[in-house]
Order: sequence, then C-alpha cells, then structure tokens
Amino acid sequence: MKSFDELNLIDPLRRAIADEKYEVPTEIQAQTIPDVIKGRDILGCAQTGTGKTAAFALPILNRLGAQNRKSIPNSPRVLVLAPTRELAIQIGESFATYGRHLRIKHALVFGGVSQVNQVRVLNRGAHVLVATPGRLLDLMNQGHISLDRLEVFVLDEADRMLDMGFLPDLKRIISKLPEKRQSLFFSATVPPKIAQLAKSLLRDPVSVDVTPETTSVERIEQRVLFVEQTKKKALLEQLVRSEGVGPTLVFTKTKRGANHVTERLTRNGIKAAAIHGNKSQSARQRALEAFRTNRVQVLVATDVAARGIDVDGITHVINYELPLEPESYVHRIGRTGRAGASGIALSFCSAGERNLLQDIERLIGQKVEVDADHPASAVAGEKVPTRPQRRGQRPRRPGWSRETSASSGQGAKQKRRRPKRKPQGAKPSKVAAGSRS
Ligand code: AMP
Repeated sequence: MKSFDELNLIDPLRRAIADEKYEVPTEIQAQTIPDVIKGRDILGCAQTGTGKTAAFALPILNRLGAQNRKSIPNSPRVLVLAPTRELAIQIGESFATYGRHLRIKHALVFGGVSQVNQVRVLNRGAHVLVATPGRLLDLMNQGHISLDRLEVFVLDEADRMLDMGFLPDLKRIISKLPEKRQSLFFSATVPPKIAQLAKSLLRDPVSVDVTPETTSVERIEQRVLFVEQTKKKALLEQLVRSEGVGPTLVFTKTKRGANHVTERLTRNGIKAAAIHGNKSQSARQRALEAFRTNRVQVLVATDVAARGIDVDGITHVINYELPLEPESYVHRIGRTGRAGASGIALSFCSAGERNLLQDIERLIGQKVEVDADHPASAVAGEKVPTRPQRRGQRPRRPGWSRETSASSGQGAKQKRRRPKRKPQGAKPSKVAAGSRS
C-alpha cells in the first residue's frame, strides 16, 4: 500500500491528512488519486466506508489549491452530485476538513429547506458546489448557477440516484456540463443501467473496483423468513427481543410503514426510532444520535433515509419488506458487518414478495438460506407439503400456510429465535462524527 507521501499532494493537504491521523491511503484512494491528479476520468465501484469521499475530494482540492484562483460568483469549478441531503452535507464536511489549510470555498445546495441562504453563498462564489439534483436544477433554471466554468464533475452513489428516480434530472444536468471536463463516477454497484450512464458520461475512464471484503455480502449471514405481511410486526417484536440481538436496523418500503413499525415497537416497550424523508433534518439527526448512543435499540428506516448512515456495531439488519430494487438489498445488508465485523441480515418475505426475493438471489448469485430454526419460517414450498388441489378449491399460494405465520400456533409462542452465532466484533454503535457518505 502506498503512503500518502507517494501521492505527491500539496503541503496543506498533507497537513490536513496528518491532522486527521490517516496513516495510509485506503485502497480506493491509492488507486484513484494519482489518476485523478493526471486528469483522467474515473469509474469507481466502491461503497460507503471505503474512503471514497477523500478519494475524490483530495485530488480535487489538490488541483484547486495548486491553481490558487479566486472563486467566481454563481460559477463553481467543481460540482459534486449526491442523492441525499445527508450525503451532500457529509461531502461538504469532508471538503471543509481536508481543505482546512486552503482557501477553497464550498457551497451546499439541497431541497427541503429555504433556498435563500444557498443563493447567498452562491452569489459570494464557491469553488466547489455539492448538490442534490432537484434543487440544483431549480437554481440553475432560476439563473443562480452556471456550469459554464465547470472543470470537474463528480457523481457520487450513482446507483442510488437511479433507485431514487433521478435519471431524468441527471440527464438534464449532464446536458448542461461543458464538453471539456473531468468526470468522476462512483457507484456501489454497476448494474447495466449504471454502466450505460457511465459510458455516456466518461471518456476513456480508469476503472477502479474496490468492492471490499468488509462490505461484500459473503461476510454477512443472510436468512429469509417466510411470513404473512400481517404477522410481520409480531415477528419483528419477537426477534428484537431475542438473545444476541443488539442494535438493529429495520428497513420498510414506505415512510408510513416506518412510522407504524416504530409506533408498534415503542408501544410494546422496545426502544425504537424512525428515520425517513418526511422527518426534519434535526429529527433525523436526533434519531441517529439516539441509535448511535444505544438509547434506542431499533432504528426503522426507508432506503433513502438510510443512505449515508455510518453506524458501527449494528448486529442485525432486518428487511421488514423486501426492496423493489435488488441492489438496495446489498446496500441495506451492508449496514451490518461493517469494519470487518460479521453481521446478520434477516429478510421477511411475504407470499407477494417471492419474486423480489428471486431478483435478489439472482443479483447476489446465491440462494438466501431459509431460517428454518424460527417457528415463523416453516419453509414454504419445501417443508409444508402442498396438498393436491381439490376440484373447485382455490389454488393455495405455493407453499404458503397459516402455520408459517409469525405468531400462529403454540410453537410460535413458545420457541424463541436463537441467533446462529454470536455477532463478533460488535462494538458500541457509532456514527462517524459528521459521518461520511
Ligand atoms: P467514506 O467511504 O468516504 O464514507 O469514508 C469512510 C470513513 O473513513 C470516514 O470516516 C473517513 O474519515 C475515513 N477515512 C478516509 N480515508 C481514510 C484513511 N486513509 N485512513 C483512515 N481513515 C480514513
């Protein structure tokens, strides 16, 4: 592994790196920084937690610091696009941290808050603009932002952008970028749609893939529990009370779902909080902080809100509902098993979600093992014999029976789920200060 010295960064950046007590570049940094400094485009396949923010922020600051030019009102030289405001804020913090010995200004632009202050900062001039797509387009349309002088374009978490339906916005933004530019493209996964987008954006890119050991799905013990939708709440409650289940992140499909699940858990004495897009920024931060400091055991999140959460020590991720996009499954379960720890991911699958499970299994290239230990998951289709259908009888859903539900039958009440093994390396949960992407 290279040392930071070998990267030939300017002195103010070396000092900032020393302040941060970083000793060696992470893999993505070692592989990316030299090529970005040379001006090459990058296609980076890297998840959160790999140090990817510094992988683009350091060489960009290196360029701006060496240029030592004044910022121009409403005309950034660098645009970083992020899917969520949390991520945008974290990226902004990274530029501030690494650029603390430089006189580089950055501006943040995201929706959900008044644009007045954002416009004021843009009018004063910023070298680096970190933005979410919707608000960026609004401000561009109002004439507050021009991309004519843009030199570097960064697209972070491209797969998430597409999951969130930002593709039309992205295309509009990309059409406004100057021809001559450097583009850096980061995505945790590269499904065909992302590859297509990258191809349209990048010129002769250097491909860097650091899907690391620590975030690869093999490290995570994955199980599926077949359960009727209506029995999921009871099953969840039972699970989070089980021995060995510590800080748990629960994913629901909708914001309403997240609220309902949280209310039910709280009503039954389990400390839980919800985090989703309808909550204010401060409410989200409060919920995260409570989770980080173990004041709540369960954080219930939607995919969008969970983006950018960097919490160590999550013992379980529970997919209360399976995601519509199989890639989201990988993002979700990657929230456990961080920093080399192993983790457990449990997915609740109702009869109507079978096809989503199949999509996931296709993507990860493996079958998700059925949690046969749990009374709720007598395996549909395998252990529950399907009776021959009588004439006039409605077909049974494949392998689906009342016995498979969370709390039906005596057995379900008496037996408790035993975790397969104790989670190793579970540390007190922590959100990295000003947590990064
Ligand atoms: P990211 O993948 O950008 O979200 O970064 C994940 C975390 O790694 C952040 O908390 C960074 O402060 C930290 N980090 C980034 N680069 C390094 C490094 N070279 N050495 C140690 N920590 C780092």
